[in-house]
Amino acid sequence: MIPFLDLKAQARTIGPQIDAAIMRALRNERSAQGHEAGAFEERFADYCNVSCCRAVNSGASALHLALLAAGVEPGDEVITVSMNFVATTNAIIRCGATPVFVDVYPVTWTMNPALVEAAITSKTKAIVPTHLHGLMADMDSIMSIARRHGLLVVEDAAQAHGAEYKGRRAGSIGDLGCFSFYPDKNIGACGEAGAVVTDHPELARRVSRLLDRAQSDVLARCDDRMDEVQAAVLNVKMDYIESWTEARRSIAAQYDQALSGRALACPRPPSHDRHVYHIYAVKLPHRDQTFEMLRGAGIGVGIHYAVPVHLQKSYVELGYRVGDLPVSERLAREFLSLPVYPDLLPDQCSVVASELKKIAASETQVFRGDAAFQNKTLRHGLVA
Ligand SMILES: *Cc1c(COP(=O)(O)O)cnc(C)c1O
Repeated sequence: MIPFLDLKAQARTIGPQIDAAIMRALRNERSAQGHEAGAFEERFADYCNVSCCRAVNSGASALHLALLAAGVEPGDEVITVSMNFVATTNAIIRCGATPVFVDVYPVTWTMNPALVEAAITSKTKAIVPTHLHGLMADMDSIMSIARRHGLLVVEDAAQAHGAEYKGRRAGSIGDLGCFSFYPDKNIGACGEAGAVVTDHPELARRVSRLLDRAQSDVLARCDDRMDEVQAAVLNVKMDYIESWTEARRSIAAQYDQALSGRALACPRPPSHDRHVYHIYAVKLPHRDQTFEMLRGAGIGVGIHYAVPVHLQKSYVELGYRVGDLPVSERLAREFLSLPVYPDLLPDQCSVVASELKKIAASETQVFRGDAAFQNKTLRHGLVA
């Protein structure tokens, strides 16, 4: 049995350090924004290469706060992607704004900037690209469109701690960046936690004004600060973030190699990017059968995400229909996620890859069709 995610393995290695940190946080009886959260903010700002980090109580809160700081108000529109976790869309709705979805690139599965311009209206206030699975969106193109139209960019970097785009860290390119430290993220607290980062002094002031209790002039104040226990856990884990990220990357490299030669369509990072593999995804036409067969073979696989946001029941009021975002819809039908986490052993990784290959061999159809899909993208010149 190879689990999809094994947090117990991590607890075995750093358990005693975590226990001690939690006890320290509990004993010093400071409220939020005390010692641990403040220390974490400094460390994480440094890690993202920005001047300001504010620690909050979830990735969802981080997105909400960042959008408020960006001036998103009721009646505004915010351009984002549907091939994503629902929290990003919800944060936009929580501001009273309307999410406007654009499709993703077939090669990287992140926001397709070529479609952004057509989605801009007089109501558009911001753009929120998601660095899906740990691979960064095409930030140069997105930033230049945003600047041309006077829009702010909020990076949803909840899956991309330490990811890089042309040498620049996730969260540091847009006007604001948002992170989640939910336990299953690349670096996770023991409960809910998140952060907003920015390199702009004025935006940093706005985020802090929204967070700080003493500022009674702010109507939409958010009591969303990170608590000391979560910050204490994260301060321990910050010592490991780089080695864990490299472990994820080497597991991904092992999968890449083991599965090469097959027409497997994984999101392909342009050469200038550092993909941090929150998820290792493979796209294959007979996804559901393959999913069941892998589960049957004792391999934990996942689907992130089975239904794109624009087609989920809760969002029918937004008025989207099947066929509106063909690439997102096709990916949602055709990809699954393999186990990838720092404690996954090379042997386990080999077992996963060989089971997948066995299934492919028994199902001649399984890996067909992807070549055409990828060729189309090549013609569009989207491969770096
Ligand atoms: C996890 C996640 C969020 C939300 O973070 P929470 O801490 O769970 O609120 C937002 N966006 C993406 C892409 C995520 O993966």
